[in-house]
Amino acid sequence: MTLPLHILITGSAGFIGSHLVERFLGEGHFVTGVDNYISGQKRNTELFLSHPNFRFIEADVSYGIPFEGENLDWVMHFASPASPPHYQQFPIETLMVGAQGTQNALELAHGHGAKFMLASTSEVYGDPLMHPQPETYWGNVNPNGVRSCYDEAKRYAEAITMAYHRTKGIDTRIIRIFNTFGPRMRADDGRVVTNFINQALSGQPLTVYGDGSQTRSFQYVDDLVEGIARLMGVTYHEPINLGNPDEYSILHFAQIIRDRVNPALNIVFGPMPQDDPKQRKPDNTRALQLLGWAPKVTLREGLERSLGCVQTTSLPS
Ligand code: NAD
Ligand code: UDP
Repeated sequence: MTLPLHILITGSAGFIGSHLVERFLGEGHFVTGVDNYISGQKRNTELFLSHPNFRFIEADVSYGIPFEGENLDWVMHFASPASPPHYQQFPIETLMVGAQGTQNALELAHGHGAKFMLASTSEVYGDPLMHPQPETYWGNVNPNGVRSCYDEAKRYAEAITMAYHRTKGIDTRIIRIFNTFGPRMRADDGRVVTNFINQALSGQPLTVYGDGSQTRSFQYVDDLVEGIARLMGVTYHEPINLGNPDEYSILHFAQIIRDRVNPALNIVFGPMPQDDPKQRKPDNTRALQLLGWAPKVTLREGLERSLGCVQTTSLPS
């Protein structure tokens, strides 16, 4: 990538957005972050405010992106609640940021001749009947269940991204991110990684939903950011899975964290949430062939790095 680029990131105060800001500033680029803090953290903005190449705009991108600069090389649309408890608390806002928010970000890119990247998700596969999931799989999504606000918003976001690419020639990228974790996750976001880490560190039982036989594949955030950076360097418009194919049952995952932090802790079982996918594992063939990318950080390594900083990143309750 030619230096320096001007990159606008929606959702910059979120978990993944803040890691992108850090990476791009570290590479000498100019970064404009945009966020309305619906699920992000002010401390993730404050980390970068003193950096001379960083600007921040507090705005709800579903109602427009008030960017007034002239030059823009990339618009990266990462704004959206991502944790199931968050997006189910804000279903309309989640649909809007996937729909109007994505269109506003596409229009901004189009107006500035910038490239565009959409943060899509493995949730477009829904409760997948094909395993592992290649990008060619169309998914198994309940269109009106409690997760639909997120799944369908992202499916629409992919559709409108491809429509802008096909009709207006925008140079677009679509990444389908699988469960990602690491420092700066919100301690109270309700996702399984933060729940189990917080429960274990505070001496509480780990709460497994259902019998824990459902699976997920957990990717460390640095691997994701590396995949994103590589994708910026190639021209490819179809979706690309970015995830770690190392698959764990949720019960096994709970046991790993319990045994690492405090083997005396109990594991308790609660009701399975509605439409919870039974299995999830990326087929990474496309990313490997196109980008020479494969995740490097193991679950245990990633957990060591995350355990060390979960307390300092917790929001006050
Ligand atoms: P996050 O909740 O930590 O970050 C999302 C950020 O977007 C937050 O700072 C939030 O305040 C902001 N935001 C939401 N709606 C907005 C709006 N209308 N206007 C402005 N800002 C808004 O979540 P994350 O884990 O960092 O996820 C980032 C992106 O990656 C999301 O688009 C998510 O769907 C996608 N993704 C994440 C994962 C994962 O495992 N973390 C998996 C798949 C996809
Ligand atoms: N889960 C769990 N206990 C928790 C939180 C989540 O057993 O305290 C389960 C959840 O039902 C799902 C998996 O862990 O099967 C991953 O949930 P998460 O909310 O992290 O994200 P998802 O992959 O479902 O979007």
